[in-house]
Amino acid sequence: MSLETLESCDRRFGELIKRLDGLERNYNTEKLKRAYEYAKEMHKEQKRESGEPYITHPLAVASILVDLGMDTDAICAALLHDVVEDTDATYDDVKNMFGADVANLVDGVTKLDKIKLATKEEQQAENIRKIFLSMSKDIRVIIIKLADRLHNMRTLGFRNGVKRRDVSAETMSIFVPLANRLGIRQVKEELEDISFSYLDPFAYEEINQLLEKSKKEREEFIESIKSRIKERLAKDFDPVPTVEGRVKTAYGIYKKVYEQGKTFDEIYDKYAVRVIVNTVTECYNVLGIMHDMFQPIPNRFKDYISTPKANMYQSLHTTVMGREGIPFEVQIRTWDMHHTAEFGIAAHWKYKEGRSGKYKFDERLNWVRHILDIQKETDDAEDIVRAIKNDLAPEDVFAMTPKGDVKTLPQGATVIDFAYAVHTQVGHKMTGAKVDKKLVPFDYVIKTGEIVEIITSKDPSHGPNRDWLNIAKTNEAKAKIRSWFKKERREENIAEGKETLWRELRRNMIHITEEELPELVSADMKHHGCETLDDFYAAIGYGGVSLSKILPRLKEDYQKKFAEPEKSPDEYEFTPASDKSGSGVIVDGLENCVVKLSQCCSPLPGDEIIGFITRGHGVSVHKKDCINYLSQRDNEPERWVNVRWAGKQTASYYKVGLDVVGNNRIGIFSDVMNSLSEAKISTHEAAARVLKNGNFMASLTISVAGTAELEGVISRMKKINGVLSVERRAK
Ligand code: MN
Repeated sequence: MSLETLESCDRRFGELIKRLDGLERNYNTEKLKRAYEYAKEMHKEQKRESGEPYITHPLAVASILVDLGMDTDAICAALLHDVVEDTDATYDDVKNMFGADVANLVDGVTKLDKIKLATKEEQQAENIRKIFLSMSKDIRVIIIKLADRLHNMRTLGFRNGVKRRDVSAETMSIFVPLANRLGIRQVKEELEDISFSYLDPFAYEEINQLLEKSKKEREEFIESIKSRIKERLAKDFDPVPTVEGRVKTAYGIYKKVYEQGKTFDEIYDKYAVRVIVNTVTECYNVLGIMHDMFQPIPNRFKDYISTPKANMYQSLHTTVMGREGIPFEVQIRTWDMHHTAEFGIAAHWKYKEGRSGKYKFDERLNWVRHILDIQKETDDAEDIVRAIKNDLAPEDVFAMTPKGDVKTLPQGATVIDFAYAVHTQVGHKMTGAKVDKKLVPFDYVIKTGEIVEIITSKDPSHGPNRDWLNIAKTNEAKAKIRSWFKKERREENIAEGKETLWRELRRNMIHITEEELPELVSADMKHHGCETLDDFYAAIGYGGVSLSKILPRLKEDYQKKFAEPEKSPDEYEFTPASDKSGSGVIVDGLENCVVKLSQCCSPLPGDEIIGFITRGHGVSVHKKDCINYLSQRDNEPERWVNVRWAGKQTASYYKVGLDVVGNNRIGIFSDVMNSLSEAKISTHEAAARVLKNGNFMASLTISVAGTAELEGVISRMKKINGVLSVERRAK
């Protein structure tokens, strides 16, 4: 193969224009020349794999479109099909120079190029074929794409072996069925044969050798059959119908040999003769004559006229046996059917601008009307595609990720569905979406062919919005959103339940560790079906477990299980109260608590003060004449505690030990301690235990100024409900 140069390209293009000028159709050759020059200029730095100037490729694609009979704009677009993708040219450049029609065709081809062709899964291949058809608002885009692929296949020999196989497999699974679907036989068969030659080179070689070996006999055989048929038909027809003969393609034979397990000799329809007539009636007449002339082979007759193929192919097929004992297929069709068989949907353009005589546009459009089942007559390309779309996949839309992965979604699916279809985490992390590079709202409904980019958050805790449940269309997305919330709600509720429970336990003087907790609440956990402590916390968080209901019993159980001598340490350690907060204020009985001087009354050392236990912010200190204290001391009286200035404590105080014995009732110890703080007595040590006889005993070390104060303390304590005796210890 001699390599092309710019000069030879120019010459080829000149020949192409001459060909177009020779046709009766009105081509805008001036526009085509501009397109060629522009493409040549834009691609001038680029080379094909063969080393040839890049323009050879768009030129060859344009030439294929001329063969298919496409119109000026499609041929222009073929010349320009790679400029937007591969050069600095933009959509607007093309639009300004060649019009919106050409620009849209180029744009369509460019978009198809972005689809990642995954051929491994048949389902995916099917989707890609559908998206190709659906995406192309103009069917000419597909035809240009097929021509593009055809030329790339013709020049595939310049690429490496792996690439050849991949591209061939892709062509087989996507482009051959597409060409078949559109009925463009020439393109389909050539794509098929080239792909086959790379996919199974040995079989291809073998079949070609067999064909080559019998070439002379074959040609002689076909010629003799043709002339006999012509001779016979001349008796009944004037003018004599056209009779053509051909041999099945290499791939066609391969399929029969390998898929049906036949030998080369067993293939009946290796040879085919085609008779082309003017009317359908004539087709059946010819069929009768053929069955008269030759011995028909049973079960080999197919009437694709009354039952057209899906791509609207129509013909009568029959296989007969000649005198030589060689079977051959006869295809009988009208010219209408012939054009459809050869060019498929491309015939729409090829015969659109009716030539003089019998090929009128309306007749050519017949098959399009059939295939589309469109009620009113139309030659609008958009209608054609819309109808093909409905024909192929009324229930689905196909959209792509920016990388070209095709996602199939039901009609009405939104960008949220798309995000979850990409990946669950992409859905959860979604913060927005772009469709064809424009930001869209969450309820944006995806249309086929759109490129959807999901914007995600890097924040690992980012999750979906509850509103999404109303927006998502697919059950998959909804289920994923719901499960996220269930899980997420659990985590929130565990945290919430845990905090609540421990706050309430403290408030109720239940002092246990987390390890001990299951023992205390095991009955409640079982009752509420909680297997783990987290389940229990979550249930509290949900409100499934009501703390106000269980706490009274928990307190009781706590006393029994944990406060009993044999089960718990019988001593509570109290360390001396001190001013560790740095506020200069000591809160009786509470060590290390946060102390703040309130802003409402700004107490100073020497002032009479009182403390308020805030919720979570330590103790706030007020003057005893502060209006806030006076107005609120009756609300939540248990929160007001005695505090004193640290500076008042002096060395002139005496330490003294006291043993307090009483009934072991709940709260007796705290009442004893409260009596001390009420009297502003500082405590150095306090321990409590249960005596063998069941009584409670607290052992205290306190500071008093003197015996008078001690007597006061003792008499106060004796007044506490349940206290039996208060004794001063010897040491
Ligand atoms: Mn290309």
